Amino acid sequence: MVAKGDMLYAWASDAACLEKGECGGAVTALLKYALESKMVDGVLTVKKGADVYDASVEIVTDPADVEKGAGSLHCGTLLLSKILTKYQDGANNKKLALPVKGCDMMGLLELARRNQVNLDNLVLIGLNCGGSVAPVNARKMISEKFGIDPSDVVKEEIDKGQFIVITKDGNHKGISIDELEEEGYGRRSNCRRCLYKVPRQADLACGNWGVIGDKAGKATFVEVCSEKGADLVSKAEAAGAVATSAADPKGIAIRGKVENAMLKLGEKWRKHDFAALSGNLWDDIQKETSRCIKCYSCIENCPVCFPKEEDLKKATTMVPTGQVPPNPMFHMRRLAHISDSCVNCGQCEELCPMDIPLALYSHAVRAEADTTYLPKLGEAPYKN
Ligand code: FAD
Ligand code: SF4
Ligand code: SF4
Repeated sequence: MVAKGDMLYAWASDAACLEKGECGGAVTALLKYALESKMVDGVLTVKKGADVYDASVEIVTDPADVEKGAGSLHCGTLLLSKILTKYQDGANNKKLALPVKGCDMMGLLELARRNQVNLDNLVLIGLNCGGSVAPVNARKMISEKFGIDPSDVVKEEIDKGQFIVITKDGNHKGISIDELEEEGYGRRSNCRRCLYKVPRQADLACGNWGVIGDKAGKATFVEVCSEKGADLVSKAEAAGAVATSAADPKGIAIRGKVENAMLKLGEKWRKHDFAALSGNLWDDIQKETSRCIKCYSCIENCPVCFPKEEDLKKATTMVPTGQVPPNPMFHMRRLAHISDSCVNCGQCEELCPMDIPLALYSHAVRAEADTTYLPKLGEAPYKN
């Protein structure tokens, strides 16, 4: 029997799933088992869309379709939490299983605090995440730094600190992420600042860190974080969907070291990015937002900001309508609404057509509030 707190290696029993999965396919096999056994009514999968830069989401109800999502996509524009509230009624009327990165998990916790999502109806398979690359930047980096036509790339991976691409002709090329980032390429700026690499508020936290020996690359490290997660792995193993072994103690130590190194790197990027704010944040915000075209994308895509649709574009005492760029209160009000709960997911910034560094501002405000108030309020469930 698997119990909360266990550390395991897990892999899919089915040969096709093992082959298709990123690191042995356990996550896909667990999601499939959850659906087959009717533990859930549907599974949210993330699958390749038009190309490797296009991560798309599908809710599947046929267990045979779960494998469409096998594999990790590091270059999509994706956040799963708001999709559940927008298109799945916050899982209020159905049970769903889904993979979640740290930012997805933090978004869900914030939405649950606002009664926008029913966590009891979700089975959450956490994915450790060292960061992802924005699609436009990924294409630029692959063209300029790898010297490869981005459209020829059929698979990308992040392994042992390298970003690796595989082309349609079967060529592999990897470059260290440190080198890429020194030259201005690499992960999203919000991912670089993230301090939530192992999503322990999910039911399971899965990843490749700490898988050593003959299982390296062929199994996933699973930290069992809840009774629900323990129940899923126990039942899936008993049904023959996955196989497990106890994690190697050396692997557990390595995983801890890598996580700590990533947290230190995150702190370094925070210092770097926040120090670059001129010392007068409001001046910066006013200057940058003066090119805002008031498209509302930053509000519509933020997992912690959701005014009622009918109120979104109404004139209020704070923000008059019909002005572009909008009155500065448009941005002040947005910051006021989200600043204590910004999860640094980066969606506002990435989807802003005017390239305004919105996530930097909201994250700087949240990070300062956390430092100022947390010792008095107690630790938050995550450190974003
Ligand atoms: P699979 O059976 O291949 O299943 C993978 C699941 O992930 C599928 O359900 C798929 O739908 C889902 N998925 C794919 N892309 C995304 C996405 N962008 N967002 C949400 N869900 C997605 N592990 C580490 O230990 N260290 C890391 O630094 C690390 N970084 C990662 C970064 C990203 C962006 C992702 C998606 C994963 C990362 N992982 C990391 C986890 C690792 O790559 C494997 O997903 C994990 O080991 C499970 O392997 P598997 O073979 O069991 O998964
Ligand atoms: Fe303005 Fe950018 Fe927000 Fe659109 S996404 S409203 S342009 S700040
Ligand atoms: Fe994500 Fe931006 Fe909202 Fe913060 S303000 S939670 S970075 S979309």
